[in-house]
Amino acid sequence: MDATAAVLLRRVDYGDYDLILTFFTEEAGKVAVIAKHAKKSKKRFAGVLELFSVLKIACQTRRRSGLPVLQEAVLEEPFAAIRENMLATAYASYWAELITSWSEEAQPQKCLYGLLVFVLDALNRQKMDSALLNLLFQMRFLDIAGLCPNLNYCCVCHAGLDNLPHHVAGFDMPRGGLRCHGCEDPEGTHICLSRGTIKQLQWLAQGDLDRVGRLRFSAQALGEAQRFLETFVPYHLGKEPRSLKVLRQLRPDVKGPEPRVMDGH
Ligand SMILES: [Zn+2]
Repeated sequence: MDATAAVLLRRVDYGDYDLILTFFTEEAGKVAVIAKHAKKSKKRFAGVLELFSVLKIACQTRRRSGLPVLQEAVLEEPFAAIRENMLATAYASYWAELITSWSEEAQPQKCLYGLLVFVLDALNRQKMDSALLNLLFQMRFLDIAGLCPNLNYCCVCHAGLDNLPHHVAGFDMPRGGLRCHGCEDPEGTHICLSRGTIKQLQWLAQGDLDRVGRLRFSAQALGEAQRFLETFVPYHLGKEPRSLKVLRQLRPDVKGPEPRVMDGH
């Protein structure tokens, strides 16, 4: 593998001396490598193999089976402020887990790489509210992964969002789309989203990245959007990320009215 920029997503001890590292690389997507003697030696990779930092790495692929061996790692962006803050670490861990669980080994994902570096940089510099960054990451990740929720029209009658008579629409998790009031499923329990929240989520998914920092969510919209995405993402990934549980324990509750859940009555 040629030298590439890479974010360190995961670090696992391997025996007494080595580390197994999972990188998300700019050129080759997710790649697992072994760093020999990285645990004990002060000279090899001294202090650079830290989670969520951006490195320039070079690896050597072994002729026989086995992981590529890390040859060189140069620190480009330490993003040290993330690791000094437990909540920021929890957000970054959640993004890292979504990427590692969804992406295939050695499949380039340049858009996703760019997105990850953008959110890590913003989190590190506290350029944007971390809860909002998390919404941004999840919406764009879903879009790249081809799992984007349908927030444009009712998934049953296809009435467009702007033509829905009510201010609030239900969201049908299994079908991955909105349901207008006329198409409510009496059996189903759906999360509700207000039209304002839906429009803001659409903007987060599609808007210009340089301008998303100016977006403001009310506490109610933030709570709604957070609950929605953190239900949608595990549902469509087929599992509950472990890091999401940690994040929920650490995160202060969003102040706002109780969630509205449509129970079909
Ligand atoms: Zn409908």
